[in-house]
Amino acid sequence: MHIKRENISPDNFLFYCSKCGNSQKISLKDLIIKEIPLLLDVDSHKLEQAYKKGNLKFYQNRFITALQFRKSVAKIEAGTMVCFSNEIHIIRGFPKIRRTLMLEKAMELHFQREVAVEEKMNGYNVRIAFINPEIVAFTRGGYVCPYTTRKASEIMDLSKFFYDYPDLVICGEMLGTDNPYVSHYYPEIGKLGFRIFDIREKVTGKPLSIKKKNYLLEKYNLPPVRLFGLYSLPEAPTKILELVKNLGENGREGVVMKDPLMKIPPLKYTSSQAHADELVYAFKFPFDLGKSFFFSRVVREGFQSYEMQESKDEMKKRAQRLGESILYPMVETIKHISADEVAGEDLVMEADNREEAEEFLHHLQELGVVAVLLKYENGRAVIRRIHQSTTDKIKNFLNGGLY
Ligand code: ATP
Ligand code: MG
Repeated sequence: MHIKRENISPDNFLFYCSKCGNSQKISLKDLIIKEIPLLLDVDSHKLEQAYKKGNLKFYQNRFITALQFRKSVAKIEAGTMVCFSNEIHIIRGFPKIRRTLMLEKAMELHFQREVAVEEKMNGYNVRIAFINPEIVAFTRGGYVCPYTTRKASEIMDLSKFFYDYPDLVICGEMLGTDNPYVSHYYPEIGKLGFRIFDIREKVTGKPLSIKKKNYLLEKYNLPPVRLFGLYSLPEAPTKILELVKNLGENGREGVVMKDPLMKIPPLKYTSSQAHADELVYAFKFPFDLGKSFFFSRVVREGFQSYEMQESKDEMKKRAQRLGESILYPMVETIKHISADEVAGEDLVMEADNREEAEEFLHHLQELGVVAVLLKYENGRAVIRRIHQSTTDKIKNFLNGGLY
């Protein structure tokens, strides 16, 4: 079945039957209850319900026409996109990676014999796929990000890979300081870079084995995340604890442990410094982010301190880091707001012209982010993201409001 992309609206899809060549109009509803359930192996009633509730949404922009899974439906992950170009391309949502608190015990229960340990890079999750005729980059929720789409193809030459493997999806992390979602400095990345951690199949989302993935990445000269090594299960936890300590001391996030064949879901484990960094960020905006970030980071610190069998001194350092990462940024923000400023963060991005920056701003606003273009100069844009609750609440408390 072929789809004509022009004239598409939720009520009016024009399909070509590839066998008989006759064109036939089909509504979005029919796609949802007839075609897509077959492709995804889900109950058509569930999909219909999801569409009615807005968890499955019609999505259209200059890159694609699609159905977006805003929330998971049965076994189909949130962020899954059913894209309509000359045929139907399905890009599955990137699955959640569970976290270990007690590394040794959890790994023993979860894995078999061997694990591949990769570096966990701190940026934002991107899936890149060939949606005829373009190479398109999706963020975690399934939105096509215009900035990421442009940059991905500038950073890497993806055309040969997708020419040979149009049915695979590249999953990776966009990194660096000029990264408008998650800005983090890596010496080897600098302003903007990309590292690939998975290659998955369209439709099923099934990942390639570590070996096959790295073979393909090397063959097509595409940048992989660091693979620290393959470890047997008994030796892995000690190695990982040491590794994660070192990573943390170098301002790096942590590791992802993977079954070499990728038959078992991966697990993640992160450094104390990464937890502290996230708390600093969250407590700069305590009334927007503080609460949802707080508890889980503190719990991670508790178990890590225990499992690392820390000395009194080491634990004290951790306690200090934890406390400082909560209190200092919050007091900074209170001071800032007392001087009649707003709680905001400045996102820096590269853009060839003002329109590009504005397009990204528009994309952010579509996601519900309150942001304004602060300045555009010499290929760089600064976008200010405003955290309204923090601004309003702190202002109120500074004026004597009660908690
Ligand atoms: P979740 O994946 O559990 O929803 P999250 O969105 O809060 O979590 P993180 O805590 O950063 O994200 O952990 C998972 C993310 O880590 C992945 O979605 C991916 O973007 C990123 N990541 C970085 N390096 C790797 C790697 N080597 N392997 C897999 N994922 C990695
Ligand atoms: Mg992350």
